Amino acid sequence: MEASATENCCVKVAVHIRPLIGDERLQGCVDCVTVVPAKPQVQIGTHSFTFDHVYGSTGSSPSAMFEECVAPLVDGLFQGYNATVLAYGQTGSGKTYTMGTSFKDGSQTGLIPQVMNALFSKIETLKHQTEFQLHVSFIEILKEEVRDLLDLATVNKSDTTNGHVGRVTVPGKPPIQIRETSNGVITLAGSTEVGVTTLKEMATYLEQGSLNRATGSTNMNNQSSRSHAIFTITLEQMHKLNPAIPGDSSNEMSEEYLCAKLHLVDLAGSERAKRTGSDGLRFKEGVHINKGLLALGNVISALGDEKKRKEGVHVPYRDSKLTRLLQDSLGGNSRTVMIACISPADINAEETLNTLKYANRAR
Ligand code: ADP
Ligand code: MG
Repeated sequence: MEASATENCCVKVAVHIRPLIGDERLQGCVDCVTVVPAKPQVQIGTHSFTFDHVYGSTGSSPSAMFEECVAPLVDGLFQGYNATVLAYGQTGSGKTYTMGTSFKDGSQTGLIPQVMNALFSKIETLKHQTEFQLHVSFIEILKEEVRDLLDLATVNKSDTTNGHVGRVTVPGKPPIQIRETSNGVITLAGSTEVGVTTLKEMATYLEQGSLNRATGSTNMNNQSSRSHAIFTITLEQMHKLNPAIPGDSSNEMSEEYLCAKLHLVDLAGSERAKRTGSDGLRFKEGVHINKGLLALGNVISALGDEKKRKEGVHVPYRDSKLTRLLQDSLGGNSRTVMIACISPADINAEETLNTLKYANRAR
């Protein structure tokens, strides 16, 4: 099915500016990003950009980003709308911190832990009338290959004797394939999708998957990650019939089944390959990552352009694994939030400007 953006498409763009961190202070960096008071506007050098929201400057509360950008997407899940939250930015800009992908020390500040809290409390209030089923998957895309981050969790479930988590490859396991059903639903054939019933269980999968995420060292940051990590929550709901209620003529109507998914994406570092100062393998990885980020930029820009949308312009989902995987959750009736993460330090000014330009294209 060839997809084109519809009228309902909605892409929101927020910027998150993290504080200067220890390393930057030690190097004597100064803050080069200014936020225009009471406006979602950011200035760097002579450039000025306006977004839907700007966070991280003095005055924004830690939960404001969740409440304003992500909570509506969680609510939308219950109405059957797919959604995607993307964290974009150079390595070290705070993507993982903002998403809460690593879920270190049971931290509640990142977006994913807040999503999980909101999801389970909403289910609690609705469960008397609706049956819910939740599944999660956690994959990463590295060098245009999809890897299952929950494989280990499944394989080692009964072997947690020493609490050690290492990397295990399952011999003979076929590679994960992105498929599209006849009604346009994207599925990941061969990836682990685990059923969860409690918040604690979901948090455990997040944690196990993030421990399993590929990282590699570059000149920029030896904790840098060159892969896109995608934590996906699928919510299925079946409204329960209650024939005992007199006057309830909606029995047949209420036998409604809804299924929607929320992708929480911690994107690969957006810095250009040349900045990592590496060649050979690393450079190749850089090129591949850029392919995903490039395709994502093109897709989001096509979706955000009302004129193009009206002309039913082609949205280039097929240009990368990342956009292909997110196809049914970007555009159409689904909701998308991109969070552009930036460092305020002057040494990062060039990449920060690139990030703001990329994010600006999405609007
Ligand atoms: P990325 O995932 O983009 O490479 P990280 O999330 O790992 O970046 O963040 C880089 C460093 O900055 C980490 O040490 C992290 O703890 C710190 N950091 C990021 N965001 C914040 C924030 N909002 N407040 C304080 N420290 C932060
Ligand atoms: Mg990271």
